[in-house]
Amino acid sequence: MVEAVQPIFILPEGYTRTTGKDAQRNNIAAAIAVADTVKSTLGPRGMDKMLIDNIGDITITNDGVTVLKSMEIDNPAAKMLVEIAKTQEEVAGDGTTSSVILAGEMLKKAESLLDSGLHPALIAKGYKLATEKAIEILNEIKEKVDISNKEELSKIVRTAIIGKLSGSDHHIINLLVDAINHVKTKTAEGEKVDLDNIKIEKKSGGGMQDSLLVDGVILEKEKVHPDMPDRIENAKIALLNLSLEVEKGPIDAQIRIDRPEQLESFVAEQQKILKGMVDKIKASGANVVICEKGIDDVAQHFLAKAGILAFRRVSDSDVQKIGKATGAKIVSTLDALDSSALGEAGVVHMEKIGNETMAFIEKCKNPKAVTILVRGGSEHVVDEIKRAIEDALGDLKSVVEEDGAVVAGGGAVEMELSKRLKEFASTLKGKEQLAVQAFAEALEAIPRTLAENAGSDPMSILVELRSAHQQGKKWVGINLSDPYDVKIDDMMKIGVIEPLRVKRQAVKSAGEVAVMILRIDDIIAAGKSAKMESKQPPSSYE
Ligand code: ADP
Ligand code: MG
Repeated sequence: MVEAVQPIFILPEGYTRTTGKDAQRNNIAAAIAVADTVKSTLGPRGMDKMLIDNIGDITITNDGVTVLKSMEIDNPAAKMLVEIAKTQEEVAGDGTTSSVILAGEMLKKAESLLDSGLHPALIAKGYKLATEKAIEILNEIKEKVDISNKEELSKIVRTAIIGKLSGSDHHIINLLVDAINHVKTKTAEGEKVDLDNIKIEKKSGGGMQDSLLVDGVILEKEKVHPDMPDRIENAKIALLNLSLEVEKGPIDAQIRIDRPEQLESFVAEQQKILKGMVDKIKASGANVVICEKGIDDVAQHFLAKAGILAFRRVSDSDVQKIGKATGAKIVSTLDALDSSALGEAGVVHMEKIGNETMAFIEKCKNPKAVTILVRGGSEHVVDEIKRAIEDALGDLKSVVEEDGAVVAGGGAVEMELSKRLKEFASTLKGKEQLAVQAFAEALEAIPRTLAENAGSDPMSILVELRSAHQQGKKWVGINLSDPYDVKIDDMMKIGVIEPLRVKRQAVKSAGEVAVMILRIDDIIAAGKSAKMESKQPPSSYE
C-alpha cells in the first residue's frame, strides 16, 4: 500500500509559485499587452493618448515611454518592457515605442514556436544569435551623413518630430540644429554632446513659432531691486556661491543693546560690512551679480545704487550653466572675485514672457550652454512640444556622436534587416533556424504598424516592401509624409533618416528582453506585505 506523501513546503506561507509553461505564457501575455498599449502611437500618423493621474492631472501624449511611465504597471514581465523603454530613452534618446513593439512581437512569435513544441531555451538561443547578427548587419548597411551639414541634421529632426508637432516646424527644426551645434564639443573620441547643456524652459501662451533659442541662459527670476537696470549691454557677470548678508555669528551669541546709540552703531556697522561687500563687487568690474544664496536688503540697495543688476537664490544647476555659457568662474569668497573670474554676455535683459518676468543672459561668445524657450498655446501643448524636442535632441546627439551614422526610417531598415536575417537563418542547420526566422519576421512589425496607424492596408504594403527589398532596394519603406498619398518610397532619398544608434539600441534591447523573458520558467512571488500594498505615488510625481 502506498502511504500518503506529505507535501513538502519549501516556501514560506503567502508565496505563490508558477512554473514551466504557465510561467512563460503569463509573462508573454503580459509583455504583449504592454506592446499593444503603445502600438497605436507609433509613427507620423500615430494617435495620442490621454493620461489622467489619480489627482486628475491630464497629459496628452504620443510618446511611448511617457505612456508607459505613467501607467502603474504591476506585472513583473510587463515592467521589464517598461524598463527597456526607459533604457532606450537613456541610451539613444528616441525609439522607445519601436523597442517595445519589437519586444512584444518577438514574444508573440516565440509563443507560436512554443506551441509547435520548440524548447524555450532553444528559442532564446536563436534570438540571442539573431540579435548579434542584426547588429552586425546594421553596421554593414548604415550610411553616413555629414554632421557639419545643417540640412542633413534637419532631416533627422524632421523624422523625429513629424506627427508630433504641426505648423511651423521649420522654425523649431532650425532651432534644434543650432542648439546642438552650440553644445557639441570635440574630444579625443570624436564629437560629444552633453544634453544637460541645453536647458529647456517652458512658457505657455503664444504659439510654437514664438519659441526661441537663446545663446546663453534664461532665468525665471526677477531682479532683486526695482531700481536696478532692466538691460545691461556688455555684461560682466559675477557668479557667487556665497550670501551677501552679514553672518549671524555663533548661535548662542547674544547682542545686548541697552541704549539707542548702541543700536545705531550696530546697524551702521552692519551697513558698513554690506557696503564693503558691494564695493568689492564693484571693484571687480562686475555689472551683473548672480548669487546662489541670499542678498540682504541693504546690499540690494547698494547694488542698485551702483547700477548693478542682481539675482538671488539662483539654483546651482542654473549657475553652472551660466558659467558654461559666459565663461564666469563661480567664487565662494568675495576676495576671490576679480576681473578674471567674471563671465561675459553681449546683453543681459529683463523680458516679460506671458505674465512672468524672465532674465535673458544672451549673445554669449561661443556658449557651451544654451536655452530653448518653448512656447505653445496651452500647458498641455507646451509639454508635448517639449517631449518631441527632447526626442529630437536625443536623435541629434546620437547621430553627432556616431559620426553621422544613419539608416532609413519608415520601416525601411527593419525590412532590410528582416530580409538579411531570413537569409542568415537559412544557413543555419539546427532548430535555432526557426527562432532566427521568427525574429526576422518580428521586425516587420514596425512597417506593419506604421501602415496600420496610417489607415492603409498593411498586408499589401508588406508584400510590396518585401519584393522591393528582394530586388536589392535596401532603403525602401513606407512614406507617410503625405497622409493622403501613402506609398512605398526610397526613404533615404526622400530624407527620412534616423540615427544608427537608435535602431541598434531598439533591436538590442528588444532582443535581450525577449530572451530574458523566455528563459524564465519559474515565478516565485512573495505575498504582498501591507507596506507594499499602500500604493506608491505614480512616477509623474518624480
Ligand atoms: P518611437 O518612439 O519608436 O520613436 P515614433 O512615434 O517617434 O516612435 O515613430 C518613429 C517611426 O516613425 C520611425 O520608424 C520612423 O522611421 C517613422 N517615420 C518618421 N517619419 C516618417 C515618414 N515621413 N514616413 C514614414 N515613416 C516615418
Ligand atoms: Mg520617435
